Amino acid sequence: MGRLFGTSGIRGVFGHDITPEMFIEIGKSLATFIGGGEVIVARDPRLSGEILANALMAGIMGGGCQVLDGGIAPTPALAFSVRILRKKAGAVITASHNPPEYNGAKFWDERGMAYTAEMEREIERIYFEKSWKGVEWKFVGKSRKIDVCRTYIQEILKNLQLERKFRVVVDCGNGAGSVVTPFLLRKLGCEVIGLNCHLDGRFPGRGLEPNEENLTVLCRIVKEVRADLGIAHDGDADRVAVVDDHGRFVGGDKLVAMLASWIVKSKGTVVTTVDASMIVDEAVEKAGGRVVRTKVGDVSVACEVAKYGAKFGGEPSGAMIFPDLHLAPDGPLGAIKVLMMLEEIGRPLSELADELPEFPIARKKIACPNEIKEKVMKEVSEELPRMLETISLTTVDGIRVETEDGWVLVRPSGTEPYIRITAEGRSPEVTKMLVEKASKVVEKII
Ligand code: MG
Repeated sequence: MGRLFGTSGIRGVFGHDITPEMFIEIGKSLATFIGGGEVIVARDPRLSGEILANALMAGIMGGGCQVLDGGIAPTPALAFSVRILRKKAGAVITASHNPPEYNGAKFWDERGMAYTAEMEREIERIYFEKSWKGVEWKFVGKSRKIDVCRTYIQEILKNLQLERKFRVVVDCGNGAGSVVTPFLLRKLGCEVIGLNCHLDGRFPGRGLEPNEENLTVLCRIVKEVRADLGIAHDGDADRVAVVDDHGRFVGGDKLVAMLASWIVKSKGTVVTTVDASMIVDEAVEKAGGRVVRTKVGDVSVACEVAKYGAKFGGEPSGAMIFPDLHLAPDGPLGAIKVLMMLEEIGRPLSELADELPEFPIARKKIACPNEIKEKVMKEVSEELPRMLETISLTTVDGIRVETEDGWVLVRPSGTEPYIRITAEGRSPEVTKMLVEKASKVVEKII
């Protein structure tokens, strides 16, 4: 059977991998899967978003479900609205941080949680077998407009407040965050300076991934206007990245470590991914909490957060989950939580960031045909823990071996013929040794 879904929903280039014709059938498959009820649909501002949303909505209605059309909205606003308004499902048309020619879709259940791999498998099965249901003329669904941003903003403001008047520069990259984050922060009393905060589906402002390379202008402006904080989102604003009061980009590992240790207070569990830095463990353990590591990807993080009743889930990519409000990664909420943390601790972000250590991380990829990946990973799981002074072994996503002074992760790439090695050590020598030992085991088989 073919595949529709990748690690984060359906994703591809419009007109090539992704077409409106497909989206009608995907809509019908979704309607068949949920078997009736109301579905909220929203999208980011990509130029192909409107046609794909219309196609998807047509399919959903053709399958006998009702559609609530949320228009352009951040992914977390859609997910949260599904939960608050108690709807059957949500669908967002987005390609997240990918360039403007890409688009895709991601689905949400009635709890506002992303569809799991099993649920996606079932939709795929319906889609490829063409076993969707079409309903008779008198049972086709209808659509009406809905303001998911208003629902989201009201719910956030009901729950969270800020006392201090922060000065914040917000860079939405012309994405969906533009319609929520500046407004929300102003409502909370912040002075907001907007950068790329007008919707433009060509994304002319900057690259959409909120990484250091794409945020040089934000860094400069934060410094120039003497802001307390810089905030950036990806295209659908389910991610957040921050710049400190000195105009320096704060890496995702540090952001996860800071938020996690602040949120766990003296006890509780936080979830992060196998590729996150050990500064997360150190910060959380120091604060009195516990870290659970899971597969890379925000869906895995959300599932584990729910399973363990965790207080926080975060990925170094900037996907942050705050389960006190909901279970979807949420960029605008991430921005507010960072401000709440600064308010409560009463110190500038630059100081908090400087207190965290930075350990050398190295990444390497080794070419490996797909057919022998399994054999290689079996060898790695047997050999690598034996070669190192292993103190803990994690096998949820590849093989992650932890030693007293570092860790190494060996993962087969899901999409390409490579084995990827990531290592972090307390010194450059340790990092180098970990990569070398892992490479040796992998290369022995290839
Ligand atoms: Mg995203």
